[in-house]
Amino acid sequence: MLTRGGEGKVVFGPAAIRNLYNMNRPLIIDAHLDLAMNALEWNRDLSRPLDEIRLREMHMTDKPDRGKGTVSLPELRKGRIGLVVATQLSRYTPPGSALAGWHSPQQAWAMTQGQLAWYREMEALGEMVQITDLAGLNAHLALWEDANVADDNKPIGYILSLEGADSFVDVSYLRRAYDYGLRAVGLSHFGPGRYAPGTKSRGPLTSLGLELLDEMARLKLILDVTHLTDEGFDQALAYYGGPVWASHCNVRKLVPTQRQLTDEQIRQLINRGAVIGGMLDCWAMDIRFIDTVSDPWQLDIRLERLVDHWDHICQLAGDSLHVAIGSDLDGIFGTEQAPWDLGSIANLQLYEGILSARGYSGEDISNIFHGNWIRFLQNAWS
Ligand SMILES: [Zn+2]
Repeated sequence: MLTRGGEGKVVFGPAAIRNLYNMNRPLIIDAHLDLAMNALEWNRDLSRPLDEIRLREMHMTDKPDRGKGTVSLPELRKGRIGLVVATQLSRYTPPGSALAGWHSPQQAWAMTQGQLAWYREMEALGEMVQITDLAGLNAHLALWEDANVADDNKPIGYILSLEGADSFVDVSYLRRAYDYGLRAVGLSHFGPGRYAPGTKSRGPLTSLGLELLDEMARLKLILDVTHLTDEGFDQALAYYGGPVWASHCNVRKLVPTQRQLTDEQIRQLINRGAVIGGMLDCWAMDIRFIDTVSDPWQLDIRLERLVDHWDHICQLAGDSLHVAIGSDLDGIFGTEQAPWDLGSIANLQLYEGILSARGYSGEDISNIFHGNWIRFLQNAWS
Protein backbone atom coordinates (compact mmCIF):
# COMPACT_ATOMS: atom_id res chain seq x y z
CA MET A 1 0.00 0.00 0.00
CA LEU A 2 1.01 3.59 -0.39
CA THR A 3 2.78 5.10 2.57
CA ARG A 4 3.47 8.72 3.29
CA GLY A 5 7.15 9.58 3.58
CA GLY A 6 8.74 12.81 4.78
CA GLU A 7 7.49 16.13 3.38
CA GLY A 8 4.12 14.54 2.56
CA LYS A 9 5.66 12.59 -0.33
CA VAL A 10 3.76 9.51 -1.41
CA VAL A 11 6.14 6.56 -1.52
CA PHE A 12 5.40 3.45 -3.53
CA GLY A 13 7.38 1.02 -1.40
CA PRO A 14 8.45 -2.60 -1.95
CA ALA A 15 5.26 -3.95 -0.35
CA ALA A 16 3.14 -1.95 -2.78
CA ILE A 17 5.26 -3.17 -5.71
CA ARG A 18 4.60 -6.74 -4.55
CA ASN A 19 0.86 -5.98 -4.57
CA LEU A 20 1.10 -5.12 -8.26
CA TYR A 21 2.13 -8.72 -8.72
CA ASN A 22 -0.39 -10.24 -6.38
CA MET A 23 -3.40 -8.89 -8.23
CA ASN A 24 -5.10 -11.21 -10.71
CA ARG A 25 -2.52 -10.51 -13.35
CA PRO A 26 0.65 -8.52 -12.76
CA LEU A 27 1.19 -5.03 -14.10
CA ILE A 28 3.62 -4.90 -17.01
CA ILE A 29 5.87 -1.99 -17.93
CA ASP A 30 7.12 -1.93 -21.53
CA ALA A 31 10.05 0.47 -21.94
CA HIS A 32 10.02 0.82 -25.71
CA LEU A 33 7.06 1.47 -28.00
CA ASP A 34 6.99 3.79 -31.03
CA LEU A 35 3.32 4.67 -30.52
CA ALA A 36 3.24 8.12 -32.13
CA MET A 37 5.22 6.91 -35.15
CA ASN A 38 2.57 4.24 -35.72
CA ALA A 39 -0.21 6.78 -35.33
CA LEU A 40 1.22 9.32 -37.76
CA GLU A 41 3.40 7.44 -40.24
CA TRP A 42 1.41 4.17 -40.34
CA ASN A 43 -1.89 6.06 -39.98
CA ARG A 44 -3.02 3.79 -37.14
CA ASP A 45 -5.70 5.08 -34.77
CA LEU A 46 -4.33 3.34 -31.70
CA SER A 47 -7.39 4.23 -29.64
CA ARG A 48 -9.28 1.61 -31.70
CA PRO A 49 -9.32 -2.18 -31.20
CA LEU A 50 -6.42 -4.05 -32.80
CA ASP A 51 -8.73 -6.10 -35.07
CA GLU A 52 -10.19 -2.94 -36.53
CA ILE A 53 -6.75 -1.42 -37.19
CA ARG A 54 -5.67 -4.62 -38.94
CA LEU A 55 -8.86 -4.82 -40.98
CA ARG A 56 -8.41 -1.32 -42.34
CA GLU A 57 -4.94 -2.28 -43.58
CA MET A 58 -6.03 -5.50 -45.23
CA HIS A 59 -5.44 -4.35 -48.80
CA MET A 60 -2.60 -1.92 -48.14
CA THR A 61 0.79 -2.80 -49.59
CA ASP A 62 2.89 0.32 -48.87
CA LYS A 63 4.70 -1.30 -45.91
CA PRO A 64 5.63 -4.94 -45.23
CA ASP A 65 3.85 -5.03 -41.83
CA ARG A 66 0.43 -3.86 -43.03
CA GLY A 67 -2.37 -5.72 -41.27
CA LYS A 68 0.18 -7.30 -38.93
CA GLY A 69 0.29 -4.81 -36.07
CA THR A 70 0.25 -6.07 -32.48
CA VAL A 71 -0.23 -2.86 -30.47
CA SER A 72 -3.19 -0.63 -29.66
CA LEU A 73 -4.21 1.18 -26.49
CA PRO A 74 -7.15 -1.19 -25.73
CA GLU A 75 -4.77 -4.10 -26.27
CA LEU A 76 -2.27 -2.61 -23.80
CA ARG A 77 -5.07 -2.43 -21.22
CA LYS A 78 -6.08 -6.00 -21.95
CA GLY A 79 -2.51 -7.09 -21.16
CA ARG A 80 -2.32 -4.84 -18.06
CA ILE A 81 0.57 -2.99 -19.69
CA GLY A 82 -0.29 0.14 -17.76
CA LEU A 83 2.94 2.06 -18.21
CA VAL A 84 5.15 2.39 -21.27
CA VAL A 85 8.12 4.39 -22.44
CA ALA A 86 6.83 5.94 -25.65
CA THR A 87 9.05 7.53 -28.25
CA GLN A 88 9.42 10.50 -30.45
CA LEU A 89 11.45 9.29 -33.40
CA SER A 90 12.60 11.33 -36.37
CA ARG A 91 15.91 11.10 -38.17
CA TYR A 92 17.91 13.56 -40.24
CA THR A 93 19.62 12.13 -43.29
CA PRO A 94 22.38 14.06 -45.04
CA PRO A 95 22.48 14.31 -48.86
CA GLY A 96 23.50 11.03 -50.46
CA SER A 97 22.35 8.83 -47.57
CA ALA A 98 20.37 5.73 -48.53
CA LEU A 99 18.51 5.72 -45.20
CA ALA A 100 15.02 7.13 -44.85
CA GLY A 101 14.88 10.39 -42.94
CA TRP A 102 14.24 14.11 -43.10
CA HIS A 103 16.45 16.38 -45.19
CA SER A 104 16.94 19.00 -42.48
CA PRO A 105 17.03 18.96 -38.66
CA GLN A 106 14.19 21.51 -38.73
CA GLN A 107 11.93 19.06 -40.56
CA ALA A 108 12.92 16.30 -38.14
CA TRP A 109 12.07 18.58 -35.19
CA ALA A 110 8.70 19.41 -36.74
CA MET A 111 7.96 15.69 -37.06
CA THR A 112 8.65 15.14 -33.35
CA GLN A 113 6.31 18.02 -32.55
CA GLY A 114 3.58 16.32 -34.55
CA GLN A 115 4.22 13.15 -32.55
CA LEU A 116 4.00 15.12 -29.31
CA ALA A 117 0.70 16.60 -30.49
CA TRP A 118 -0.67 13.07 -30.97
CA TYR A 119 0.29 12.08 -27.39
CA ARG A 120 -1.43 15.24 -26.16
CA GLU A 121 -4.59 14.30 -28.08
CA MET A 122 -4.54 10.86 -26.43
CA GLU A 123 -4.25 12.60 -23.06
CA ALA A 124 -7.23 14.81 -23.93
CA LEU A 125 -9.26 11.66 -24.66
CA GLY A 126 -8.22 10.16 -21.30
CA GLU A 127 -6.49 7.32 -23.20
CA MET A 128 -3.01 8.17 -21.95
CA VAL A 129 -1.38 10.18 -19.19
CA GLN A 130 2.15 11.56 -19.24
CA ILE A 131 4.41 10.58 -16.34
CA THR A 132 7.28 12.98 -15.67
CA ASP A 133 8.10 12.70 -11.95
CA LEU A 134 7.95 10.54 -8.86
CA ALA A 135 4.59 11.86 -7.64
CA GLY A 136 3.01 11.17 -11.03
CA LEU A 137 4.58 7.71 -11.15
CA ASN A 138 3.35 6.76 -7.70
CA ALA A 139 -0.16 8.06 -8.35
CA HIS A 140 -0.32 6.13 -11.62
CA LEU A 141 0.88 2.89 -10.03
CA ALA A 142 -1.69 3.34 -7.27
CA LEU A 143 -4.43 3.72 -9.90
CA TRP A 144 -3.36 0.48 -11.61
CA GLU A 145 -3.30 -1.21 -8.22
CA ASP A 146 -6.87 -0.09 -7.50
CA ALA A 147 -9.10 -3.12 -8.05
CA ASN A 148 -12.21 -0.93 -7.71
CA VAL A 149 -11.46 0.75 -11.05
CA ALA A 150 -11.82 -1.48 -14.13
CA ASP A 151 -8.61 -1.70 -16.17
CA ASP A 152 -10.64 -0.60 -19.22
CA ASN A 153 -11.09 2.77 -17.53
CA LYS A 154 -7.43 3.32 -16.69
CA PRO A 155 -5.22 5.49 -18.89
CA ILE A 156 -1.94 4.11 -20.23
CA GLY A 157 0.87 6.00 -18.54
CA TYR A 158 3.72 7.07 -20.78
CA ILE A 159 7.21 8.37 -20.18
CA LEU A 160 8.36 10.34 -23.20
CA SER A 161 11.69 9.31 -24.73
CA LEU A 162 13.50 10.52 -27.85
CA GLU A 163 15.02 7.74 -29.97
CA GLY A 164 17.92 9.40 -31.75
CA ALA A 165 18.63 13.08 -31.05
CA ASP A 166 18.96 14.29 -34.67
CA SER A 167 15.80 16.38 -34.35
CA PHE A 168 17.32 18.70 -31.75
CA VAL A 169 18.31 21.50 -34.13
CA ASP A 170 20.87 22.49 -31.50
CA VAL A 171 21.49 21.60 -27.84
CA SER A 172 19.16 24.36 -26.60
CA TYR A 173 16.21 22.33 -27.95
CA LEU A 174 16.72 19.80 -25.15
CA ARG A 175 15.45 22.34 -22.63
CA ARG A 176 12.32 22.93 -24.69
CA ALA A 177 11.76 19.19 -24.86
CA TYR A 178 12.34 18.78 -21.12
CA ASP A 179 9.69 21.43 -20.51
CA TYR A 180 7.08 19.42 -22.45
CA GLY A 181 7.97 16.29 -20.48
CA LEU A 182 10.84 14.52 -22.27
CA ARG A 183 12.64 12.36 -19.70
CA ALA A 184 14.92 9.99 -21.67
CA VAL A 185 17.14 10.43 -24.72
CA GLY A 186 19.01 8.03 -26.97
CA LEU A 187 21.67 9.87 -28.95
CA SER A 188 21.55 7.70 -32.05
CA HIS A 189 19.40 5.39 -34.15
CA PHE A 190 20.57 3.79 -37.41
CA GLY A 191 23.50 4.98 -39.51
CA PRO A 192 25.17 8.38 -39.21
CA GLY A 193 23.75 10.77 -36.61
CA ARG A 194 24.28 14.41 -35.76
CA TYR A 195 24.94 13.58 -32.08
CA ALA A 196 26.31 10.05 -32.42
CA PRO A 197 26.55 7.37 -35.10
CA GLY A 198 24.12 4.50 -34.57
CA THR A 199 23.43 0.86 -35.33
CA LYS A 200 25.27 -0.55 -38.37
CA SER A 201 27.91 2.18 -38.23
CA ARG A 202 31.09 2.93 -36.31
CA GLY A 203 32.80 5.74 -34.48
CA PRO A 204 32.58 7.94 -31.40
CA LEU A 205 30.06 10.56 -30.31
CA THR A 206 30.22 13.88 -32.14
CA SER A 207 31.15 17.11 -30.33
CA LEU A 208 27.42 17.98 -30.41
CA GLY A 209 26.78 14.65 -28.67
CA LEU A 210 29.14 15.49 -25.81
CA GLU A 211 27.56 18.92 -25.48
CA LEU A 212 24.13 17.29 -25.31
CA LEU A 213 25.29 14.90 -22.57
CA ASP A 214 26.41 17.91 -20.50
CA GLU A 215 22.95 19.44 -20.81
CA MET A 216 21.24 16.10 -20.13
CA ALA A 217 23.28 15.74 -16.93
CA ARG A 218 22.19 19.19 -15.82
CA LEU A 219 18.52 18.21 -16.31
CA LYS A 220 19.06 14.67 -14.87
CA LEU A 221 17.66 12.98 -17.97
CA ILE A 222 17.92 9.24 -18.51
CA LEU A 223 20.48 8.28 -21.15
CA ASP A 224 19.32 5.39 -23.32
CA VAL A 225 22.42 3.60 -24.65
CA THR A 226 20.41 1.55 -27.16
CA HIS A 227 21.64 2.01 -30.77
CA LEU A 228 25.05 3.44 -29.82
CA THR A 229 28.15 2.11 -31.58
CA ASP A 230 30.60 0.16 -29.42
CA GLU A 231 32.91 3.19 -29.30
CA GLY A 232 29.98 5.46 -28.52
CA PHE A 233 28.78 3.15 -25.76
CA ASP A 234 32.11 3.19 -23.90
CA GLN A 235 32.51 6.90 -24.39
CA ALA A 236 28.96 7.76 -23.28
CA LEU A 237 29.18 5.61 -20.17
CA ALA A 238 32.52 7.10 -19.17
CA TYR A 239 31.36 10.65 -19.84
CA TYR A 240 27.79 10.61 -18.53
CA GLY A 241 27.20 10.65 -14.76
CA GLY A 242 23.38 10.55 -14.82
CA PRO A 243 20.99 7.57 -14.92
CA VAL A 244 21.51 5.10 -17.77
CA TRP A 245 19.27 2.38 -19.21
CA ALA A 246 19.18 0.21 -22.29
CA SER A 247 15.50 0.37 -23.23
CA HIS A 248 15.51 -2.34 -25.92
CA CYS A 249 18.60 -4.55 -26.30
CA ASN A 250 19.33 -8.26 -26.38
CA VAL A 251 22.51 -10.29 -25.89
CA ARG A 252 25.32 -10.37 -28.46
CA LYS A 253 26.58 -13.76 -27.28
CA LEU A 254 23.30 -15.23 -28.59
CA VAL A 255 22.81 -12.96 -31.61
CA PRO A 256 26.25 -11.72 -32.68
CA THR A 257 25.44 -8.40 -34.32
CA GLN A 258 26.62 -5.00 -33.16
CA ARG A 259 23.02 -4.06 -32.28
CA GLN A 260 23.12 -6.39 -29.22
CA LEU A 261 25.09 -5.98 -25.98
CA THR A 262 28.43 -7.69 -25.36
CA ASP A 263 29.04 -9.32 -21.99
CA GLU A 264 31.43 -6.50 -21.14
CA GLN A 265 28.77 -3.91 -21.98
CA ILE A 266 26.22 -5.82 -19.88
CA ARG A 267 28.66 -5.87 -16.94
CA GLN A 268 29.19 -2.13 -17.26
CA LEU A 269 25.42 -1.57 -17.28
CA ILE A 270 24.94 -3.79 -14.23
CA ASN A 271 27.63 -1.82 -12.37
CA ARG A 272 25.75 1.37 -13.21
CA GLY A 273 22.49 0.01 -11.81
CA ALA A 274 21.00 0.01 -15.28
CA VAL A 275 18.02 -2.06 -16.44
CA ILE A 276 18.03 -3.71 -19.88
CA GLY A 277 14.73 -4.12 -21.75
CA GLY A 278 14.50 -7.35 -23.75
CA MET A 279 13.07 -6.89 -27.25
CA LEU A 280 10.77 -9.05 -29.38
CA ASP A 281 12.12 -8.41 -32.87
CA CYS A 282 12.96 -11.91 -34.15
CA TRP A 283 16.06 -10.53 -35.83
CA ALA A 284 17.38 -9.55 -32.37
CA MET A 285 16.22 -12.79 -30.71
CA ASP A 286 17.49 -15.59 -32.92
CA ILE A 287 20.64 -15.76 -35.02
CA ARG A 288 18.85 -17.76 -37.75
CA PHE A 289 16.32 -15.05 -38.52
CA ILE A 290 17.00 -13.07 -41.70
CA ASP A 291 15.18 -9.76 -42.05
CA THR A 292 12.30 -9.80 -44.59
CA VAL A 293 13.16 -13.41 -45.54
CA SER A 294 12.63 -15.71 -42.54
CA ASP A 295 9.34 -16.79 -41.04
CA PRO A 296 9.04 -16.94 -37.21
CA TRP A 297 6.70 -19.93 -37.44
CA GLN A 298 8.98 -21.95 -39.72
CA LEU A 299 11.94 -21.26 -37.43
CA ASP A 300 9.71 -21.87 -34.41
CA ILE A 301 10.74 -18.63 -32.72
CA ARG A 302 8.52 -18.33 -29.67
CA LEU A 303 8.29 -15.84 -26.81
CA GLU A 304 10.41 -18.18 -24.74
CA ARG A 305 13.48 -17.43 -26.90
CA LEU A 306 13.79 -14.07 -25.13
CA VAL A 307 14.18 -15.88 -21.80
CA ASP A 308 17.54 -17.19 -23.06
CA HIS A 309 18.69 -13.56 -23.36
CA TRP A 310 17.30 -12.66 -19.93
CA ASP A 311 18.91 -15.78 -18.46
CA HIS A 312 22.31 -14.80 -19.79
CA ILE A 313 22.08 -11.33 -18.22
CA CYS A 314 20.75 -12.75 -14.94
CA GLN A 315 23.71 -15.16 -14.82
CA LEU A 316 26.17 -12.29 -15.32
CA ALA A 317 24.39 -10.21 -12.65
CA GLY A 318 23.74 -13.02 -10.23
CA ASP A 319 20.16 -11.79 -9.80
CA SER A 320 17.04 -10.76 -11.74
CA LEU A 321 17.38 -7.04 -11.03
CA HIS A 322 18.67 -5.86 -14.40
CA VAL A 323 16.31 -7.36 -16.99
CA ALA A 324 12.86 -6.23 -18.00
CA ILE A 325 10.66 -5.66 -21.04
CA GLY A 326 11.36 -3.18 -23.85
CA SER A 327 9.45 -5.01 -26.55
CA ASP A 328 9.81 -2.58 -29.50
CA LEU A 329 6.63 -4.20 -30.89
CA ASP A 330 5.34 -2.51 -34.06
CA GLY A 331 8.73 -0.80 -34.34
CA ILE A 332 8.70 -1.02 -38.17
CA PHE A 333 7.70 -4.71 -38.00
CA GLY A 334 4.63 -6.73 -37.06
CA THR A 335 3.72 -10.38 -36.60
CA GLU A 336 5.92 -11.29 -39.61
CA GLN A 337 8.98 -10.55 -37.47
CA ALA A 338 7.72 -11.25 -33.92
CA PRO A 339 7.52 -14.57 -32.03
CA TRP A 340 4.71 -16.59 -33.62
CA ASP A 341 2.96 -17.20 -30.28
CA LEU A 342 2.67 -13.46 -29.53
CA GLY A 343 -0.14 -12.26 -31.84
CA SER A 344 -0.90 -9.25 -29.67
CA ILE A 345 1.04 -7.25 -27.14
CA ALA A 346 -1.58 -8.33 -24.57
CA ASN A 347 0.08 -11.74 -24.65
CA LEU A 348 3.17 -10.41 -22.88
CA GLN A 349 1.24 -11.82 -19.92
CA LEU A 350 2.22 -15.30 -21.20
CA TYR A 351 5.68 -14.61 -19.78
CA GLU A 352 4.37 -15.33 -16.31
CA GLY A 353 3.87 -19.01 -17.18
CA ILE A 354 6.95 -19.19 -19.41
CA LEU A 355 9.27 -17.74 -16.78
CA SER A 356 7.74 -19.83 -14.04
CA ALA A 357 8.31 -23.00 -16.12
CA ARG A 358 11.95 -21.92 -16.55
CA GLY A 359 12.39 -21.77 -12.76
CA TYR A 360 11.92 -18.06 -12.14
CA SER A 361 10.32 -17.26 -8.77
CA GLY A 362 7.33 -14.98 -8.30
CA GLU A 363 9.71 -12.30 -7.11
CA ASP A 364 11.88 -12.65 -10.24
CA ILE A 365 8.81 -12.34 -12.46
CA SER A 366 7.65 -9.30 -10.52
CA ASN A 367 11.11 -7.75 -11.03
CA ILE A 368 11.00 -8.38 -14.75
CA PHE A 369 7.36 -7.34 -15.29
CA HIS A 370 7.54 -4.02 -13.44
CA GLY A 371 9.71 -3.96 -10.29
CA ASN A 372 13.01 -3.21 -12.00
CA TRP A 373 11.73 -0.31 -14.07
CA ILE A 374 9.92 1.13 -11.02
CA ARG A 375 13.04 0.91 -8.86
CA PHE A 376 15.12 2.48 -11.61
CA LEU A 377 12.68 5.39 -12.06
CA GLN A 378 12.38 5.93 -8.32
CA ASN A 379 16.17 6.21 -8.08
CA ALA A 380 16.45 8.41 -11.15
CA TRP A 381 13.72 10.79 -10.04
CA SER A 382 14.19 10.97 -6.27
ZN1 LIG B 1 15.15 1.10 -31.66
